[in-house]
Amino acid sequence: MSMLKVSPAPLRCPCDGRHFTRVFTYTAPPVGEVRFNFSAGGGYHREVWRCEICHHFVSVHQMDMSGLYRQDYVSSTYGDADGLRRTFERLTALPPDKSDNLGRVKRILEFAAGHLPGPAQEKRAPTVLDVGSGLCVFLHRLKEAGWEGTALDNDPRLVQHAGEVVGVKAVLGDFMELADLGQFDLVTFNKVLEHVADPVTMLAKSARHLRPGGLVYVEVPDGEAAAQEGPEREEFFIEHHHIFSPASLTLLAGRAGLGVEFLERLREPSTKYTLRAFLRPARDRGSDFTRRTEL
Ligand SMILES: [Zn+2]
Repeated sequence: MSMLKVSPAPLRCPCDGRHFTRVFTYTAPPVGEVRFNFSAGGGYHREVWRCEICHHFVSVHQMDMSGLYRQDYVSSTYGDADGLRRTFERLTALPPDKSDNLGRVKRILEFAAGHLPGPAQEKRAPTVLDVGSGLCVFLHRLKEAGWEGTALDNDPRLVQHAGEVVGVKAVLGDFMELADLGQFDLVTFNKVLEHVADPVTMLAKSARHLRPGGLVYVEVPDGEAAAQEGPEREEFFIEHHHIFSPASLTLLAGRAGLGVEFLERLREPSTKYTLRAFLRPARDRGSDFTRRTEL
């Protein structure tokens, strides 16, 4: 057994963190993992633990990641503003069978057509807030489909890119610290929640930014599927504190006051193992649902 402690466990598994066991140990970055400054200099030690009840995974290490999303991540991954634009153009030019984003947009448009009647009834464009908008290929495509998008990111270069290159409303800041974002028909977390230590609190805040009848869309890495291929999978790279299973994503939603309307697992064109879910605040769902989740 390792001496590392699984301390945060903010998902608060039914097992109370007592059923985590170590499944992977890394003494060097796996092939393909971005070499951040803190992980390039040796002394790399990291473990992945799994809850034996809900099959949630956590990444455990004592390396300092505090600077990761301030500047290191964008610089390491994309370079400068031209690098951002080139990557954006490459991704938006991918054909449907190669594009994770087109699959996501298709799924959202289909689901919204059946489960988000407000905008059509009110004869207005549907609105979407994308938390952690990154390169903004997602809002670019939804904008083409007639949606009104707001991009939110905490990196000024990504926000500038969203406003100037993609042409959507772009907000700079930390989602957890912004109170006056407004309300939207859809709030999306596309591969965001796995990057934060406390996904419960972050997801719970999304309900405050939903219009009546609104939906939350979540995409997270599917650790349960990826683990069958072993520790080298990108789902377990160091940027991810949490790697999910269908059960643990459902638990996450419940802890955040949301209920699952729809959940699917898939392997994306990029080869990523991914879970997708549409969630709705428990307050908007039947009393039967509320009773069951409070048991
Ligand atoms: Zn658990």
